[in-house]
Amino acid sequence: MTGNARPVCALTIAGSDSGGGAGIQADLKTFAAHGVHGLSALSALTAQHTRAVTAVHVPPVDFLREQIDACFADFDIGAVKIGMLANARVIRAVADALETHRPRAVVLDPVMVATSGAKLLDDGALDMLRSRLLPLATVLTPNIPEAELLLGHAIADDEAAEAALVELLALDASAVLLKGGHLPGSGDMVDRFDDGEALIEFVNPRLDVEGHGTGCTLASAIAANLCRGMPLREACSAATNYVHGALKHGFAPGKGPVRVLAHF
Ligand code: PLP
Repeated sequence: MTGNARPVCALTIAGSDSGGGAGIQADLKTFAAHGVHGLSALSALTAQHTRAVTAVHVPPVDFLREQIDACFADFDIGAVKIGMLANARVIRAVADALETHRPRAVVLDPVMVATSGAKLLDDGALDMLRSRLLPLATVLTPNIPEAELLLGHAIADDEAAEAALVELLALDASAVLLKGGHLPGSGDMVDRFDDGEALIEFVNPRLDVEGHGTGCTLASAIAANLCRGMPLREACSAATNYVHGALKHGFAPGKGPVRVLAHF
């Protein structure tokens, strides 16, 4: 991305993390590390640090729409990453905007609850997420608790995770990357991908650390890889490796043990 060459651009529609570890801040760092120019539309602002979310502010949806429209009015956007959407009104506004602008690729991270336990999506917003946003996603990237909420039942083991992929595809997702970090077992980290053609496992050694912003980073890395012309499967595979490396070299900037990712 040097000289006069036009950079590729990715847009993140997500929440801000004042602690700099997750959300928009993680997304922009990930885009930059992949040589992609990052655009951002803030759907929510959180006051948080490495231990807790202490407050959430959701700006008016008309203003979110203005941010998204401004980005599409000027930039050639290769992929959109979607993160924290807070409530059903925001979800509807984002779905309307995507239907207007029809981006080439949409990576949907269905953010619901933070690792710290803070709720990042209202109860009652799930139906809107399922009916309006899932069908617009190129790939959906839930973790196990998010997949359980989307499907309405528990996912207890590897076998159940494989079945969940098929059920998530049946909800009208084009492809799913189901993150395996929350499954029991001390072995490797297994993330499972299914695009309706094949089920593929991406395996990385499990790191014995508490990470913050891993989900945001994974979805942004997929979006950045898609912007750069990688096919979806390769984009997801490379993104899982990126998160592993960034977490391995991560550091704890706050008072707690929680690590943020190193994007360099
Ligand atoms: N804050 C914001 C704004 C987020 O978007 C997310 C996750 O997507 C989080 C916090 C939670 O991050 P984690 O669960 O990795 O701690």
